[in-house]
Amino acid sequence: MFKDPEYYVQGVLDRNRLMLARTITLVESTLPAHQELARAVIDRLLPHTGNAVRLGITGVPGAGKSTFIESFGTRLTDKGHRVAVLAVDPSSTRSGGSILGDKTRMEKLAVNDNAFIRPSPSGGTLGGVARKTRETMLVCEAAGFDVVIIETVGVGQSETTVASMVDFFLVLMIAGAGDELQGIKKGVLEVADAIAINKADGDNVMRAEMARKEYQAALHLLMPGSPNWSPPVLTCSALTLDGVDKIWETVLDHRDKLTRSGELAALRKKQALDWMAFLLDEGLRGWFFGDPEVKAALPRLRKDVENGILSPTAAAAELLGRLK
Ligand code: GDP
Repeated sequence: MFKDPEYYVQGVLDRNRLMLARTITLVESTLPAHQELARAVIDRLLPHTGNAVRLGITGVPGAGKSTFIESFGTRLTDKGHRVAVLAVDPSSTRSGGSILGDKTRMEKLAVNDNAFIRPSPSGGTLGGVARKTRETMLVCEAAGFDVVIIETVGVGQSETTVASMVDFFLVLMIAGAGDELQGIKKGVLEVADAIAINKADGDNVMRAEMARKEYQAALHLLMPGSPNWSPPVLTCSALTLDGVDKIWETVLDHRDKLTRSGELAALRKKQALDWMAFLLDEGLRGWFFGDPEVKAALPRLRKDVENGILSPTAAAAELLGRLK
């Protein structure tokens, strides 16, 4: 590791792929010295960030996320865009391989000079993975990627975390036999800016259209997040590319409307403040629970509360009092 932040900053701004990868490795490192250096690098890169279309994509396993991102991303690079694909997958540490760990999932994009694919960082909690992904997004923007796609597996809490760092959140679905709303949480629909029913090809076209109508009806029941945007439900095929361009047009339409209304700028500001609050929260917790006195006292106090010798309020007050 080089110690001078300028070495990384210049490499990233020069769009040097090796330096981009090295900088992301630095950002992902959990060593305190690396983290400090990474902060200095991100600070200097910050004026060069913020220019990308930040796009979140989720969907249950098998919905066709990687096939879709491969097709969609390739269409975008054909149009002259530079596309970075990042993943948020906290489960990757347990399963041993991340959702994007296997490069063969996006064969074409992986060797495309105008695309950059980065697997989910291994590293425990959703918060930890999300932090690294958010900072990686900034590094990619500074390296001139004008579309950043953040992929997440459509299970658990990761969707809302990803939704809180992107401009547009796309939920990929597939038509099921009458169980349209099964397996997708209401919370996910609430943060969707668009839903796309994938695999609308061959014999499946009719079923996809039926599913589209059902989802559209379900979305009507939800309060729209913006007065200027009602999330549309579209159909597409990641294999035939039918409807894929329309999704990009939808992203641009959304961007146009929310830019004009000032909502996009307000959203980005809110996301930055939420992010700061999250980091403070996480930092305080780490600092508190890392304290030797707290560490030493915690097991005994837990036991006392468990046995009814001490009230939870008194136990918490005693612990918090140690850090006054
Ligand atoms: P992921 O788990 O969401 O990333 O899904 P994959 O992209 O790995 O796709 C799962 C399976 O669905 C693969 O066998 C794909 O070939 C297939 N698939 C993906 N998109 C489409 C599509 O638009 N049409 C059809 N017919 N199959 C698709």
